[in-house]
Amino acid sequence: MATVKTRSLARRHRVVDGARFRLAGEDPADTGPIATKERAQKLLARGIQRLRDAQERLYAQDNWAVLLIFQAMDAAGKDGAIEHVMSGVNPQGCQVFSFKAPSDEELDHDFMWRTSKNLPERGRVGIFNRSYYEEVLVVRVHPEILQRQKLPPKLVARNVWKQRFEDIVAFERYLARNGVVVLKFFLNVSKEEQQRRFLSRIDEPAKQWKFSGADVRERAFWDDYMHAYEDMIRHTSSAHAPWYVVPADNKWYTRLVVATAVIDALDELHLAFPRVGAEKKRELGEAKRALEKEALRGPKRRRGRA
Ligand code: ATP
Ligand code: MG
Repeated sequence: MATVKTRSLARRHRVVDGARFRLAGEDPADTGPIATKERAQKLLARGIQRLRDAQERLYAQDNWAVLLIFQAMDAAGKDGAIEHVMSGVNPQGCQVFSFKAPSDEELDHDFMWRTSKNLPERGRVGIFNRSYYEEVLVVRVHPEILQRQKLPPKLVARNVWKQRFEDIVAFERYLARNGVVVLKFFLNVSKEEQQRRFLSRIDEPAKQWKFSGADVRERAFWDDYMHAYEDMIRHTSSAHAPWYVVPADNKWYTRLVVATAVIDALDELHLAFPRVGAEKKRELGEAKRALEKEALRGPKRRRGRA
């Protein structure tokens, strides 16, 4: 995975400056240089191993935190991408949070409150399955949600979305300066592929539980969502928190791109196990001698036993 080839795989989809970004220029069915599912799966398996090693060093070093944000239309494959990409990682070093429609308590606070409470600790990988970006997506597509947010009316200006973009960019810069590496993934599924996936949820008994009529109703707002996603990427892409616009019509490619992006970011941190100082080495030597002596003596016999 460290080869130039796979490194450039995620780079192809990375946006650090959104000024010229156009969603229409992105092909959801793109699979880059990867010709087959089998090839992608082989590379992904290797990637998962590398991710496990890198995450161990991240945890041991305990300086950086990594935040992975996933946004997408329904059935784009967020859950599967999270499951596969993190499958090799020690669960103790990883935290996943899903953000649904806010509760009454959450609505009583500023919009960053619920996500801020769940930011990853140093040494951990935190995953947001949806995030504060919903505030410029679903809330923008359905302005009645904004009305329910109990904001002081005079603060809800016409440029409320622009203000939110600015606040998000500033917040992510603050995180970066505090050692939180932020990577954002928009899984870009086509409307046709979403239709196919909904139909298979209806037809296959094992998938029926996933089906929601509300998801199908949201399709009526597809163009509004695409406009909101494009504007979001244009305004919140940055070098310190890039967006990856990941083609999502082929799940095997989506997962490989996400894994590669995370590996690239961890590589750039040059993570290493902490070096042990002279005092610690002395302590290790003493412990070793004591343990070896114990082994020579053998286990103590209990008196009174046959
Ligand atoms: P899955 O369907 O795979 O369980 P999901 O993330 O789609 O996962 P749902 O419970 O189906 O989970 O949907 C969550 C809903 O909550 C989405 O429609 C999303 O737009 C909505 N939501 C998330 N954040 C907010 C927010 N801040 N304000 C209003 N709605 C939100
Ligand atoms: Mg859903």
